[in-house]
Amino acid sequence: MTVAVLWFRKSLRLHDNEALTWACSSDEVDSILPIYIFDEGEIDGGGEALGFNRIKFTEQALKDLDSGLRKELGICLKIFSGDYQEVLKKIVTGIGGERVCLAYEYCSEPRIRDAEDALKDWFGISESFRTISFPARHTLLDIEEVVGSKDYKKPNSMKDMERIFRRHFDVNSMGFYEVGDPLPVPNNSKPLTDAYSSVNCLEISDLERIIMETYPERSDNTQYFPGGETEALERLRNKVTDRRQFVNEFRKPNTISTNSEDDPREPSTTGLSAYLSSGCLSIRMLWRECESSYLSGSHTKPPESLHGQMMFREMFYLLSRSVENWDSDVGNDSCIEVAWDDFDREKIMAWETGSTGYPYIDAMMRQLDETGWMHHLGRHAVSCFLTRGQLWQNWTHGRDVFERKLVDSDWALNNGNWLWLAGVAPFSMPYYRIYNPCPDSKSSLNVETVNAEFIRYWVPELRSFPSKYIFEPHLAPISIQKSAGCMIGDDYPLPIVDRKQSRKENLIRFKASREK
Ligand SMILES: Cc1cc2nc3c(=O)[nH]c(=O)nc-3n(C[C@H](O)[C@H](O)[C@H](O)COP(=O)(O)OP(=O)(O)OC[C@H]3O[C@@H](n4cnc5c(N)ncnc54)[C@H](O)[C@@H]3O)c2cc1C
Repeated sequence: MTVAVLWFRKSLRLHDNEALTWACSSDEVDSILPIYIFDEGEIDGGGEALGFNRIKFTEQALKDLDSGLRKELGICLKIFSGDYQEVLKKIVTGIGGERVCLAYEYCSEPRIRDAEDALKDWFGISESFRTISFPARHTLLDIEEVVGSKDYKKPNSMKDMERIFRRHFDVNSMGFYEVGDPLPVPNNSKPLTDAYSSVNCLEISDLERIIMETYPERSDNTQYFPGGETEALERLRNKVTDRRQFVNEFRKPNTISTNSEDDPREPSTTGLSAYLSSGCLSIRMLWRECESSYLSGSHTKPPESLHGQMMFREMFYLLSRSVENWDSDVGNDSCIEVAWDDFDREKIMAWETGSTGYPYIDAMMRQLDETGWMHHLGRHAVSCFLTRGQLWQNWTHGRDVFERKLVDSDWALNNGNWLWLAGVAPFSMPYYRIYNPCPDSKSSLNVETVNAEFIRYWVPELRSFPSKYIFEPHLAPISIQKSAGCMIGDDYPLPIVDRKQSRKENLIRFKASREK
């Protein structure tokens, strides 16, 4: 008897899941145990490591996965918490007397690869145990294969990515890369094994309780981005499959950072990032849906197109695997050293809580806190403001806040984009291109300025302010502040720094760091 322990990590889905497909169809597997493990510290000890939106999203994704497994395959998900290695060893030895195969999807993060290496050694102690890893499901490219190839050079641009794609994928007669088809949901199930009794598992209701206890103030919240494969497939249909014109004309730099005009929470882009980073949606599925749309007529191309966005995603995955100390500002050859100011709690807190006195920045940060998401150009603006633009704080502080709060939080992408925006990496935008935190209608941040509904929604103190002053309310005459019912300095903060002065000083400091 062989038991396949299916370790769900990033592919929280039934479709395009190679490990699941293998376990369901392989003759050598007699029964299956699908598991998910919260790493030590993620939900025990208070659970604040994952912000409310992240943990809630994960809980909903697991619930949806469990119900999909039950409905389609008659098996259910078991959830654990603790040190990966310890939990897995207990599960595997608890199964006792059987042959056990631990199956999982490849993951490029160093701390997880380290845990895997240690596990592989441990699994080697018995002929009854083995591990099997499936390489390229979370990305289009097989990361290890590309990074290990003789001619691999770290990519810094879309041109480099086109070169890598051409080398690793065939191109079909329509001119598209052959990235492979997403796998269907398997239908030939195996029974669930119940021989894992030595480890306590968590019920979904335990997760709900932990979240309520950790975030009591959020108990009435409904999530704008609910987790799960069901939601992912619905958003894919609504935003991509059924919107060919949107897909074919998609140019990322033209999308509006202040969201849809009729809903200040709904992205002008696809809003699929959280579903991709958790693996509720397969990247291959999104790629192929866009391709189907492109076949219907003329369409935009990388870097601006949706395929281009996915190629940026691949680029950061490759870099995160090939740049040492990717998540650090020390010993990272993709990060120049900058003499940032010491951690300034007051400034960081004002930034994080959306009380800098700059309404566009504050609206973006409050949106992040409330929904766990922010438009890409909003992310540009707030990260530039925190680092080389105004506050001169180390990018790693902002990265940490994003990591905790983003529903799409992704180690490879979050670090890569912070490096990009802080101006410190070879692939960064020019350091002297600093965003104005008080954008006007011509700003490349693409802000809706006529009605300014986005600011009114997220910064309700300014709800009655005239649009003319709403992006820089401290410049409004006192009479206007009075009639709008919001006195700047009392009801809404004065700017924490002078934006023009800080910009000027920081440009000089950044130039000096580069020259050094
Ligand atoms: C400072 C900063 C931090 C970021 N942190 C993250 C993060 O932790 N996780 C994350 O998924 N994205 C991150 N991004 C990238 C980008 O902002 C989001 O992927 C995008 O806004 C998600 O919205 P969407 O799904 O509507 O994107 P769309 O424009 O619809 O793009 C489709 C998909 O392409 C991928 N993509 C798009 N832009 C990028 C990009 N610049 N880099 C890598 N992949 C991209 C995403 O998977 C996205 O879902 C960050 C950007 C910045 C500037």
